[in-house]
Amino acid sequence: FSAISGPFNARGTQVRVTAAVGVSIYPSDGEHAADLIKNSRTAMYRAKEAGRNGYRIYSPAMNEKAATLFRMEGMMQKALEKGEFILHYQPKCDLKTGFVTGVEALIRWLSPEMGLVSPADFIPIAEDSGMIIEVGEWVLKTACAANKRLHDAGFGGLTVSVNLSPSQFKEPGFPEKVARILKDTGLPPGYLEFELTESVIIHNAEEIINAMRELKESGIRFSIDDFGVGYSSLSYLKRLPIDILKIDRSFISNVPGNSDDVSIAVAITRFAQSLKLEVVAEGVETAEQLDFIRKIGCNVMQGYFFSRPLPEDKLKALLKEGKNLKNHV
Ligand code: C2E
Ligand code: CA
Ligand code: CA
Repeated sequence: FSAISGPFNARGTQVRVTAAVGVSIYPSDGEHAADLIKNSRTAMYRAKEAGRNGYRIYSPAMNEKAATLFRMEGMMQKALEKGEFILHYQPKCDLKTGFVTGVEALIRWLSPEMGLVSPADFIPIAEDSGMIIEVGEWVLKTACAANKRLHDAGFGGLTVSVNLSPSQFKEPGFPEKVARILKDTGLPPGYLEFELTESVIIHNAEEIINAMRELKESGIRFSIDDFGVGYSSLSYLKRLPIDILKIDRSFISNVPGNSDDVSIAVAITRFAQSLKLEVVAEGVETAEQLDFIRKIGCNVMQGYFFSRPLPEDKLKALLKEGKNLKNHV
């Protein structure tokens, strides 16, 4: 590691490289070269995951993790085919008017073997295995089609927000895919929003910025999700076509009691206002929290206080009733 730690001079530019090394040992990890190479590669990927500059020695448990990933991937593939994924929609309300202005689409997996699986348990696996591309496409299609149905049922102004994983964005042709889905479902682009976390932006800046600009030009809006818990680099906000900041639930859950969280929520809101961004407070559970976010100037609320994420029929019933923040107790 010290031999390659550099810096090296590459045509006048100083570069540093890191190494990730995987080790497998003959004969315990394989009798043949092909097995030894395969196992050392598995170990190398672990070294990369652990932060790149390091080594890992192969152990059979590493393959067990790969096998679990593989099994889950197969199950998710079947789940897509059999329609075991469903979307719930959580309303967001405008704090001035009290009306529902949009919904966030949130995926769930109704597995016959495992019951109701939370996205927190399978989205990371879908991301690691690459399944997120197919799952994400299904989410986007389903969410756009549902919002179009709501528009046709008389709720014309609603936007739908869809969570995007970094790898979806990195996929070549993603903007074209989105355009096709909008066309097929008949949803105008102005009623679709994408939620990205700060990590997406750090991942692969140039590719992502280009894709975002292209999508933004068509009328789609972007929000930064879980704002405040990720990277502290704020310079990306200037370079990206962002419309909305969502203050992370962890800051909202302890206001107005916790003075640090109060300061953070106020600072994020002011910061977003000065960049002319809309501010959404998520995870609002109590009347006190609602009161607080209204006072500090947030624009939109989302949270159990008004509604949990709902299946499409329940959402429609809520809208039909004309339920809004003002008549909600
Ligand atoms: P997220 O994007 O931050 O979504 C908000 C999460 O907070 C949702 O959890 C929602 O049910 C929950 N929540 C909303 N209001 C409240 C509240 O007042 N109190 C509490 N305690 N929780 C509240 P959920 O549905 O379990 O989703 C978890 C995460 O999974 C999401 O976090 C998102 O990162 C990811 N996810 C969900 N659907 C998708 C998807 O279609 N694609 C991708 N890539 N990720 C998704
Ligand atoms: Ca979200
Ligand atoms: Ca969030």
